[in-house]
Amino acid sequence: MTVTVRAPGKINLHLGVGAPRSDGFHPLVTVYQAVGICDDVTVAPSPGWTLGVSVPDWMDAAAVPVTGDNIVDRAAQLLARHHGIASQAAVSVTKAIPVAGGMAGGSADAAAALVALDRLWGLETPDDELLSLAAELGSDVPFALVGGTALGTGRGELVEPVPDPTTWWWVVVPSDEGLSTPAVYRRFDELNPDAPAEPAAAATTLAALATGDPELLAGALHNDLQDAALDLRPDLADLLDLGQQSGALRGLVSGSGPTCLFLADDADAARAVAGRLAEHHDVVLVTNGPVAGAHVVTYA
Ligand code: ATP
Repeated sequence: MTVTVRAPGKINLHLGVGAPRSDGFHPLVTVYQAVGICDDVTVAPSPGWTLGVSVPDWMDAAAVPVTGDNIVDRAAQLLARHHGIASQAAVSVTKAIPVAGGMAGGSADAAAALVALDRLWGLETPDDELLSLAAELGSDVPFALVGGTALGTGRGELVEPVPDPTTWWWVVVPSDEGLSTPAVYRRFDELNPDAPAEPAAAATTLAALATGDPELLAGALHNDLQDAALDLRPDLADLLDLGQQSGALRGLVSGSGPTCLFLADDADAARAVAGRLAEHHDVVLVTNGPVAGAHVVTYA
């Protein structure tokens, strides 16, 4: 039996960050949207544990940890321990989500692995248990299970779906070099010594989403980590300017970066923006959201 589960990358339409809590995590109020840049995790029976990763030409394979350090190993061990069984499977991960790009690719792989191994091992883990295992693995992992568009609170792990009936079109420009999420939070703390305990609320973004109007959403996009990411990677400011000069409604750093996002009016506008950005950048992707969370695509 082989099971393939697909899980989406995320973008943050709103990312409000507060002062660090006593446990060291930053409180977040975020609006996640799952977009159509997805990783696939395929699992098959095996007498032991193996993990292989394949990446597209433009991605640096060395940036993805091999077995032992990959978040997929941790997901498998956690699920197996939860049920008191051995962690045995042959797993392959096919990446499309930029690594260390602020799109939570590792979290997507962890969510996909939980769903795929649950099927392979015939565990039928209830959804609430799967969600709490996901939250143990990382703040963005529960959202990768849920998908769509959702409000995230806590450290991002408490997710509540929000209505989002529109298809939004995005141009996504990954970077050759990733940015470490902890380093971006450290710079956020340095730049914002007086950050409020309560992160910025997401009301404007939620209201803009409800209108279905890309210009209103463009005006509402908000990322408290953007200044810290631009401080570490000043070149991204030029990329954001270029995207806006190329016809995007708005450019934004994705999460902790360095991937940059550009909202376009519709599919044709997104392709036109992408064409112009591709004159200066090797990898320019067009995608849309919201899309489904981790879901089975092959069960054979
Ligand atoms: P986030 O925004 O959730 O912090 P990110 O999108 O910036 O994450 P990821 O691609 O999830 O970054 O990777 C963060 C780090 O996790 C990588 O630098 C890598 O060392 C490690 N990692 C572990 N497993 C994976 C995986 N399956 N895919 C990608 N990175 C992984």
